[in-house]
Amino acid sequence: MNFASDNITGACSEVLQAIVRHNEGPALPYGDDPLTAAVEARLKEVFETDLVALPVVTGTACNAIALSCMTPPYGAIYCHRDAHIHVDECGAPELFTGGAKLIPLEGGDAKLTPEALEAAVMGAGVVHNPQPAAVSLSQGTEGGTLYSLEEIAALSAVARRQGLKVHMDGARFANALVAQDCTPAEMTWQAGVDVLSFGATKNGCLAAEALLFFDKTLAVEAHFRRKRAGQLLSKMRFVSAQLEAYLENEVWLRNARHANAMAAKLSSGLCALPGVSALHPTEINEVFCRMPQALTDALLAAGFVFYDGYFGPGTVRLVCAWNTSEESVDALLDEAARLAERVQAAE
Ligand SMILES: *Cc1c(COP(=O)(O)O)cnc(C)c1O
Repeated sequence: MNFASDNITGACSEVLQAIVRHNEGPALPYGDDPLTAAVEARLKEVFETDLVALPVVTGTACNAIALSCMTPPYGAIYCHRDAHIHVDECGAPELFTGGAKLIPLEGGDAKLTPEALEAAVMGAGVVHNPQPAAVSLSQGTEGGTLYSLEEIAALSAVARRQGLKVHMDGARFANALVAQDCTPAEMTWQAGVDVLSFGATKNGCLAAEALLFFDKTLAVEAHFRRKRAGQLLSKMRFVSAQLEAYLENEVWLRNARHANAMAAKLSSGLCALPGVSALHPTEINEVFCRMPQALTDALLAAGFVFYDGYFGPGTVRLVCAWNTSEESVDALLDEAARLAERVQAAE
């Protein structure tokens, strides 16, 4: 029973079948195939706007290439202190941008606030300071929470006033989208987002993400930067095949709804136990709790897999995925209830 992450899973059958289907026959290399063009056309429909879509195979590359098109090497990129680009990408954004500075900001529930952003932006035109260039927000966040449309728009308003481009890290974009019943357009370009890292790997693909440029002027150098980053796959059709299947028949939305529903059940079940409380509200497919260490230890010893101490001692992270079974959630909750009683009795 593994709740470590949403990338512990395989790929969903629709995606695997599409790879097999598109294995037949020749296709021009390096994304010059008709399937890659069809995926871009489909994304234009999904997002209800013109855009440039560039598939890549990791989220780190997606974020780092995106940001490198949004800042000069002497630029400043504002993000939350828990942001994946800041703590989990081994300095790739700094490398790909040629040395731009990530400026981590505080904010509750892993979210940036317009006030914190406004207060942090400084030094425009001052030769001694990194030059304000971009803000990056994760939707859903690294804390399993969501920005509302109003919150995204408020951050974008500060960004526009301060001359910053807006990047969205959408490693869990589908989970965030289905959680708030809005359109992809409303959650991105209509709220001021210039570039989206559209994640698909965690939610049912094998290895597929796409850079989506709503501001097409930023995409001009992206083609060269993607090649230089080793992300222009010669057999790009296999990445595009995944994205095609992912977007067809609402597979991406179905997968995300399931993952979110399992996380909601897990979260409310755990938080009903004595001594357990939510660290952040569970708004997508990730559950963050404070949990008595004895209970955490007992659950891990019983064979359940999840992160202990994710946001410091006494905190845990459990993630549900597109294929997390309801039985596995029930099994964890039953065992947790049994162990919680024993832990209490021992105290
Ligand atoms: C998983 C994840 C990524 C992408 O990570 P890769 O391992 O490089 O694919 C990016 N941002 C967030 C918030 C993530 O959770």
